[in-house]
Amino acid sequence: MSRLVMKFGGTSVGDVERIRRVARIVAAERKPGRGLAVVVSAMSGETNRLVALTDDAGKGLSGPAFDDEYDVVVATGEQVTTGLLALALRGMGVPARSWQNWQVRIESDTAHGKARITGIHADRLGAAIDSGEVAIIPGFQGVTHEDRISTLGRGGSDTSAVAVAAALGAERCDIYTDVDGIYTTDPRITSKARKLERISYEEMLELASLGSKVLQTRSVELAMAKRVPVRVLSSFVEPGEAGPEAGTIVCDEDEIVEKQIVAGIAYSRDEAKVSLKGLTDHPGIAAEIFGRLADANINVDMIVQAPSRVDGKVNMTFTMPEREADRAAALMEAARDTIGFESIEVKKDVSKVSVIGVGMRSHVGVAKTMFEALSKRGINIENISTSEIKISVLIDSSYTELAVRALHTAYGLDAA
Ligand code: ADP
Ligand code: ASP
Ligand code: MG
Repeated sequence: MSRLVMKFGGTSVGDVERIRRVARIVAAERKPGRGLAVVVSAMSGETNRLVALTDDAGKGLSGPAFDDEYDVVVATGEQVTTGLLALALRGMGVPARSWQNWQVRIESDTAHGKARITGIHADRLGAAIDSGEVAIIPGFQGVTHEDRISTLGRGGSDTSAVAVAAALGAERCDIYTDVDGIYTTDPRITSKARKLERISYEEMLELASLGSKVLQTRSVELAMAKRVPVRVLSSFVEPGEAGPEAGTIVCDEDEIVEKQIVAGIAYSRDEAKVSLKGLTDHPGIAAEIFGRLADANINVDMIVQAPSRVDGKVNMTFTMPEREADRAAALMEAARDTIGFESIEVKKDVSKVSVIGVGMRSHVGVAKTMFEALSKRGINIENISTSEIKISVLIDSSYTELAVRALHTAYGLDAA
């Protein structure tokens, strides 16, 4: 018996007509000896609507007083879609039923709003799909050991799908979305973006974590850890139209024959920069600053320490997600005397642009190409960070698109 997991994102199930098309795509994948589990997102816009309702009803509340009931509300979007898809399939004569998370038991930890899946009891689910019935499962949600509903963070249905695929020992996890695969960069930024036939787990992990929201980062981590082959493809074509080679496969690096030096370019506008000026340079200053930020659960990304114009003084600049910037600045301000700095500056209109590719391990000159391409367009680099397979720069956010397009051309990624 083989098993396949299919996942459909918000726009793919955006209205009942689209849900009917999804039902046709699912029906076309049914064949004797293959069990099908389908993970669905909420209809597009629905999660945002639900989030806004909780913000309104829970005004003034935060943390444990808010997060668990936020999950109860926002998880409902996915439940609706499971029932609608099951009905559409039944209407076509395909046996199908919905399974809520507490019925499968997709267990998670208790970090409401950003929970992690800790285990899936897939025996009953596996037996049901092996009997020929299509199982429809809501993405994004889990159940805690306290029997409370949890959600996995925005975009979390991708992670649900990969986790279900791993638990069922599925041959593959097909992620259907509103683009026909993974591109060299976000196709919304440049029409020259090229669809990749294959991309390695490592590269996709960097792309996702550096801003390409086509897959949730955690889903790629999980696919890599559990060796689940993932395919990303479009739900906007009728079954059979796209052919068996449709989409992009996320797989092991060894399975990719033609390796590019740079596989793709990611960008993130959700960045902010805090600069502390005129710090007295002494051992322990970095521990003092970043210890405080870590204790407050603020995830710092790029860090640059540079000498100031005044002897013995340094400036420290660090970046974090934009929503954390004010909190970080307030923390620093509160400890101004202990840390000992002269001034503080917060800049929110910054973006991070990153080039990613496993080929960087063995090629020199990748950074040079990046810096030259940006300087030719007069784009100033405010921070740089590198790892084995990526280079990221922080720039003024008004240049985001220009930078992505310039780099796309500079690395020879433009479609013919
Ligand atoms: P879904 O609702 O199906 O989960 P998402 O909106 O989460 O869909 O992800 C699909 C979107 O990801 C695309 O519409 C595209 O604009 C964006 N995207 C960003 N980077 C890339 C990339 N490198 N390749 C393909 N799509 C990308
Ligand atoms: N519906 C959730 C969201 O909008 C989860 C998902 O679509 O993956 O974030
Ligand atoms: Mg998504």
